[in-house]
Amino acid sequence: MKALSKLKAETGIWMTDAPKPEVGHNDLLIKIRKTAICGTDVHIYKWDEWAKKTIPVPMVVGHEYVGEVVDMGQEVRGFNVGDRVSGEGHITCGHCRNCRAGRVHLCRNTIGVGVNREGSFAEYLVIPAYNAFKIPDNISDELASIFDPFGNAVHTALSFDLVGEDVLITGAGPIGIMAAAVAKHVGARYVVITDVNEYRLELARKMGATRAVNVANEKLEDVMKELGMTEGFDVGLEMSGVPSAFTNMLSNMNHGGKIAMLGIPPSDMAVDWNQVIFKGLVIKGIYGREMFETWYKMASLIQSGLDLSPIITHQFPIDEFQQGFDTMLSGQSGKVILDWC
Ligand code: NAD
Ligand code: ZN
Repeated sequence: MKALSKLKAETGIWMTDAPKPEVGHNDLLIKIRKTAICGTDVHIYKWDEWAKKTIPVPMVVGHEYVGEVVDMGQEVRGFNVGDRVSGEGHITCGHCRNCRAGRVHLCRNTIGVGVNREGSFAEYLVIPAYNAFKIPDNISDELASIFDPFGNAVHTALSFDLVGEDVLITGAGPIGIMAAAVAKHVGARYVVITDVNEYRLELARKMGATRAVNVANEKLEDVMKELGMTEGFDVGLEMSGVPSAFTNMLSNMNHGGKIAMLGIPPSDMAVDWNQVIFKGLVIKGIYGREMFETWYKMASLIQSGLDLSPIITHQFPIDEFQQGFDTMLSGQSGKVILDWC
């Protein structure tokens, strides 16, 4: 089968002919229709320090997708050939304390599809049926193919009550922008998002942010004053992984504020702990999506009228994958989709 693979330990990604994966007793075989390029795939493409120590070579990468079930193992229940599915990319162990308690997203032995094992940038993908999620008929293939990062946005945004609250999101990458749309949809008062990339800030405005602030030339404090905010933000969603963005967030939180952290900072990020202590802040780390409440909520949010479609800014046939990666690398994009059929 055709597959996009990390064939060499250097910058790039290559189209190759890979063996069709074998279906185990508990697995689904999925014929891939659409895949999306994740920031993680860009790290793998660039072959940065994280990729070098994480990604086996050669390996088919990719973990954002939608496809159709074409075969399944003999133990699988609850799915049928022909079902349209996407899937949770974290394959959990099932035997650690958290897995056994039903807190599966906190499994300490998680294996990543397209990171630690063969991924979805291929004509066919095999995953445990447990990880698959059936896509309701009224959700498009395009949107279904970005459920993985949408899930990061939903998991983070719904970590704290947002109704009537003022929310600060640092980082208007695809995930930050989707989180802004979710926050508005569920009833936040003001949703202020920051970035230094004007293309992405514009996209955030289009998707409902109250204010999209370019911190390179505008001060968050001025924007707050303009909105009549006298005390600070109630909820912070850190979605940039940039230390100065987090510092800015800490100093603009209200006392008793709550912060959910999704962005992955460099390992040596300094934190002004006095802000955390004297403001009584609550900080929660977010990894992946909740299995499978986040998936349920994603479908429901779309069915209740959340419009995510502007976040998909580019689509390419799979043979033009290089253009897809170049577009992602340029920073002038929302989500970029690759079509497999
Ligand atoms: P992204 O890299 O596309 O977005 C990050 C954004 O932050 C960019 O648009 C960048 O311009 C912006 N930025 C840079 N400097 C800034 C500053 N000073 N202030 C505000 N914004 C600034 O990433 P993404 O795909 O949207 O993901 C968001 C973050 O979440 C990344 O750090 C990613 O690694 C992380 N992530 C974590 C998980 C998890 O499970 N914890 C899962 C997926 C992604
Ligand atoms: Zn486990």
